[in-house]
Amino acid sequence: MQTYSNWINGTFVEPSSSAWIDSVDPYRNEVWARIPASNQTDADRAVAAAKAAMTKGPWATMTASARGRILSKIADVLEANIERLAILEVRDNGKLLAEMRGQVKYSADYWRYYAGLADKIEGSVVPIEKADTIGMTFKEPVGVVLAITAWNSPLTFFALKCAPALAAGCAVVLKPSEFSSVSSLEFAALTKEAGLPDGVINVVSGYGADIGSTLVEHPDVAQITFTGSDQTGAHIYAAAARHMKRVAMELGGKSPNIVFEDADLEAAAHGAVSGIFGAAGQMCTAGSRLLVQNSIRSEFTQKVVDLTKSIKLGDPTDPATQMGPISNAAQHRKVLDYIGIAKAEGAVCTLGGVAPESTLSNGLFISPTIFTGVTNDMRIAQEEVFGPVLSVIGFEDEAEAIQIGNDIAFGLAAGVWTKDIGRMMRMTKDLNVGTVWGNTYRSYSYTLPFGGRKRSGIGRENGIESINEFLETKSLMLSVRTVNRKPNFVPD
Ligand code: NAD
Repeated sequence: MQTYSNWINGTFVEPSSSAWIDSVDPYRNEVWARIPASNQTDADRAVAAAKAAMTKGPWATMTASARGRILSKIADVLEANIERLAILEVRDNGKLLAEMRGQVKYSADYWRYYAGLADKIEGSVVPIEKADTIGMTFKEPVGVVLAITAWNSPLTFFALKCAPALAAGCAVVLKPSEFSSVSSLEFAALTKEAGLPDGVINVVSGYGADIGSTLVEHPDVAQITFTGSDQTGAHIYAAAARHMKRVAMELGGKSPNIVFEDADLEAAAHGAVSGIFGAAGQMCTAGSRLLVQNSIRSEFTQKVVDLTKSIKLGDPTDPATQMGPISNAAQHRKVLDYIGIAKAEGAVCTLGGVAPESTLSNGLFISPTIFTGVTNDMRIAQEEVFGPVLSVIGFEDEAEAIQIGNDIAFGLAAGVWTKDIGRMMRMTKDLNVGTVWGNTYRSYSYTLPFGGRKRSGIGRENGIESINEFLETKSLMLSVRTVNRKPNFVPD
C-alpha cells in the first residue's frame, strides 16, 4: 500500500493531524493507497502558500509570456508521464485505462492551449466622452483560486481549472475528490520539474464536508471553481455568497439524446449506447434520456438493446473491456437504488438491472441497464443516476422532443440525430442546454466553451472565455490636463 501526502508550497507535506483516508480500487474492491484527511491547519498552509506566491514570489512579477512558457513545459512533463498517471487514475476510479490514457494525453493539449493564451490577455483603451481624458482597462488575476473537483476525470479537471487560472496569473489550491486524489497529488509535484514556482499550485486532499468546506470559507480565497453534483454546488454557492466570492460551477446533468426517424440509425444507435454506457454512465454528460421518435421507437430500441448486449464488462486495464466497475461503494448502492425506484414507478427493465457478481473479481459492477415504458415525469427520467442506466422515452414530433428535452431541472448537453440540417439548427436553438452534439455525442474540444444552464452550472470551461473566470477588470480614468476642482464642482 502506498501513502501520498499533500503538495503545499512546492513540497510534499504530511497532514497535520496524521489522519488518512483509504483509497479503494473499485475493480478489486480493495484498499490500494492512503491519502491525507486534511484539516483547517492544512487548508491555512495551502492558502497561505498560494497567497504568498501571488504577492511575493517570482510568479507575482513574471511576464505573461514567461508564464506561458512554464505552462507549455507542464504539458511536456505531463506527456512524459501519461502511462504512469493514467494507471493511478484507473486504480482510483476504475475507468478504462484506454480512456484515462486518452484523457491524460488530451489534458496536455489543454495546458498547451492556455500556454499560448497567457500573453494574449489584453486590456483596452476605451474612447470616452470627456475632454482631455483617457479611459483604459487592465486585466488582473482575480486572486487565490480554489478548485474542487469530482472523481471521474481528475487530471482533466486539473487542467480545465488550473491551466486557465495560471495563464491569468492566479495561484491555485486544488481539492480533488477523496475517491481519486492520487493522480493530482503526483502531477502537482511534476509541475515543479517544469519550473513552476513554489506555491502556485497546491493540492490538499480530504473530505468535502471537512477540508472542502473549510477552504470555501477561507477569507483569502477569491474565486471558487467547482466540478461536482448540483447538491454540493448549491451548498458551495450559498457559502460563497456569504463572503461575496466569485464562483464557476460545472454540475450534473440528465441529457436528452434525441433520435429522429430520418437519422443515420446505425450511427445514432452507437451514439446512444456509447453516450450512456461509456465510463459506465459516470459522466456529467451521460445521454441518460434516449428520446426516440415514435415511428421508429420499437425498431430503434431493439437495435440499442442488441448493441448493449455485446458490451464486455471486466478489468479496466484489459484493452478488450468496454465497461468497467462503478467507482465507489456508495455510488454502486445509489445506482442499484435508482434501478429499484424505476421498477417501482412502473418502468420496464428491458435489459440488465443487476449487479453481476460471480465472474468479475470483487468489482463494483452493474450490468448495462435499459428501461422502456418511461415517462418524463418519473424519477428515473428526472434525476441524475450517474451510472449505466438508460431511459427510453418516445416523442411524436420536433415540438414534443423540445418539450420533453427541456422539461428537466438540468441543462448541460443534448444530442440530436437527424440528416435535416434545418431541423438540426431549430433544435439547437430551442434546446435549453450549454452544448448540443449534432450527429455525434460526448465529444469535447479545448477550444469550444463547455458548461451548463439551470442546475447544470454557472460559467464556461474550455476556450478563450474560460480565462475570464479568473480575471478582474480594472479601469483607469486619466486626466491629461490639470483642472483645479472646487468641492462644489458638478461631476461631468
Ligand atoms: P460531489 O458533489 O459529491 O463531490 C465533488 C467534490 O466536492 C469532491 O471533491 C467532494 O469532496 C467535494 N465536496 C463535497 N461536499 C463538499 C462541501 N460541503 N464543501 C466543499 N466541497 C465539498 O460529486 P462527485 O460524486 O465527486 O461527482 C459526480 C458529480 O459531478 C455528478 O453530479 C456529475 O454530473 C458531476 N460532474 C460534472 C461535470 C461537469 O463538467 N459539468 C463533470 C464531471 C462530473
